[in-house]
Amino acid sequence: MDIGFIGLGEMGAAMVANILKAGHQVRVWNRSPERAQVLAELGARVVATPAEAFAGDAVFSMLADDTALREVITAPLLEHAARGLIHVNMATISVVLAEELASAHASRGVHYVSAPVMGRPDVAAAGKLTIVAGGPAESIDRVQPIFDAIGQKTWRIGSLPQQANVMKLAANFMLGAAVETLGEAAALVTGHGLAMQDFLDVITSGLFPGPVYSGYGKMIAEQQFEPAKFKARLGLKDLRLALAAADSVTTPMPIASVVRDSLIEAVAQGDGEKDFAVLGQVAARRAGR
Ligand code: NAP
Repeated sequence: MDIGFIGLGEMGAAMVANILKAGHQVRVWNRSPERAQVLAELGARVVATPAEAFAGDAVFSMLADDTALREVITAPLLEHAARGLIHVNMATISVVLAEELASAHASRGVHYVSAPVMGRPDVAAAGKLTIVAGGPAESIDRVQPIFDAIGQKTWRIGSLPQQANVMKLAANFMLGAAVETLGEAAALVTGHGLAMQDFLDVITSGLFPGPVYSGYGKMIAEQQFEPAKFKARLGLKDLRLALAAADSVTTPMPIASVVRDSLIEAVAQGDGEKDFAVLGQVAARRAGR
């Protein structure tokens, strides 16, 4: 396929590398142009504006948040796009913005698919992301070869793009809750003189196996929060979005509020650029350590 790709951060860069490896042609744009150079060496064509990337069979975006999407995917950009082009937004954004984008695209004859992903940049680099796609089935069919290059499975959850974002936010809420509890448990066991690693070996071998407990648990045990693969400030964004989505359907999520406040504390302490696992440091600090 001939695609454009907008946003070459930790996730976007890893995804583009796999798309190139699968033999597709990719035009890439990033606000900071130096991040595109590495991909140029792998065969990507670097373009100077988002509008130049917004062409071909489809365009993918992996920008940070709602603000970035609103700045880059503007009305004039959509006006200039070819009718029938498919835009697949893979970033974690609000349910409200996904709904807005779907209708703004439709009114200009551009197809919109929400396809947020689960998996950190190392999972993206391995081409093993879990993709949750919402949008018209025929659009998803057309971009499936790209999903196959970056993911291990695409879950199609229906024709309403914003429902994919709801699912992603619910998953990230659970991720936040798991990392929060790992941090609090680490503060408990180390306060009693146990080693976090020993505790981790026990819980991950039976009760809590899987990448969340072993991956984030390891970072908390080693107190290794840099370089960040998933920044705490992006995690805070997701908890805020989950709470906003819950509020819109009058759904209390008390645990989400706790995790949101812990992340606010991390950011207030100057740790927003550190990894999400820095929740472990928040819990340790509260325990006077
Ligand atoms: P990242 O490394 O911080 O990259 C963010 C990207 O957005 C960069 O390309 C950045 O450009 C661009 N950007 C930010 N603000 C912008 C603006 N105002 N205008 C234009 N471009 C802007 O983030 P990431 O980890 O790749 O995450 C990207 C998305 O994937 C987020 O929605 C995140 O929640 C989601 N996600 C992340 C993970 C993970 O583990 N990291 C997993 C699943 C989903 P510059 O290079 O110029 O700053």
